[in-house]
Amino acid sequence: MRKVTILIPCFNEEQSLPLLDAKLKELMAGNPGYAWEILLVNDGSRDHTLDILRELARTDSRYKYISLSRNFGKENAMLAGFDYASGDCMVIMDADLQHPPHCIPEMLKYWEEGYEDVYARRKDRDTDGWLRRKLSYQYYKLLQKATSVDILPNVGDFRLLDRKCIDALKQLRETERYTKGMYCWIGFRKKEIEFEVAERVAGQSSFSFGKLVKLALQGFTSFSTAPLKFATWLGIVVSAVSFLLMLIHLVKALIYGDPVAGFPTLITVILMLGGIQLLCLGIMGEYLGRIFNETKRRPVYLIGETNIEKA
Ligand code: UDP
Ligand code: MG
Repeated sequence: MRKVTILIPCFNEEQSLPLLDAKLKELMAGNPGYAWEILLVNDGSRDHTLDILRELARTDSRYKYISLSRNFGKENAMLAGFDYASGDCMVIMDADLQHPPHCIPEMLKYWEEGYEDVYARRKDRDTDGWLRRKLSYQYYKLLQKATSVDILPNVGDFRLLDRKCIDALKQLRETERYTKGMYCWIGFRKKEIEFEVAERVAGQSSFSFGKLVKLALQGFTSFSTAPLKFATWLGIVVSAVSFLLMLIHLVKALIYGDPVAGFPTLITVILMLGGIQLLCLGIMGEYLGRIFNETKRRPVYLIGETNIEKA
């Protein structure tokens, strides 16, 4: 019998977990043809999530949990899950039931047909506001231009991965993680299914606008050096323009003399150049900071407690 791991990162999910548990038990009962493993990663929750996980694991041996020593973020929590998953395939889903478990049998069907990465694309983004939708659309358009791998819009972590994919992802151990890009980078046989994103069952989203912007930037810096090239090109264009301006002013001064004037133009140019320089330095800084973080080679997560014995 083949084993399916369901990986669920949990951060302050005490209210969603009982509902999730019920849905999962229903799913497992309906699909007795597989051995199941529910792998819950507690990402440093500050509520009673860990107590609930312990209790679940005590009453049902299919439930496994890993509790990280603090909040490392969803991307890192997922890597912990990749490391400890023992299934022949793995489904990643959110704890808040925004990813409907009834899609899982469909994913399994495609997996049986030989697909190695069955990802679910959200049909619509009605649960997001207008601005978030527009921003997200533009972001992916830009990201796709900047990177050589196709990072798909409206596709997230809700997917089924074959053991081959899990083993591939385990090798990508960068500290600054953008897992959404990694799924595309690793390749393998992919299949798309659609799902309707549900409302969060309980609690609230821990991804604030700020966190989302940070993750969005991460997408660029970990999958593309285009911003660095942009800085170079901006530099070239600005230098060329200023060289031309210099020539024009030189000729003008030779012909008409040089009365002291043009303070507004001067200050504008100085400020503009200063701004561009800072921008380019900032872009370099973003990459430099990430290089700094990678060179420390720290583990991506630390485990506080678990009921899994690692082989
Ligand atoms: N999550 C996590 N660590 C974090 C933030 C979130 O493990 O630092 C988990 C969270 O428990 C949930 C999933 O990641 O299972 C998605 O988070 P959330 O629902 O808050 O985000 P949204 O659905 O709004 O993108
Ligand atoms: Mg959610």
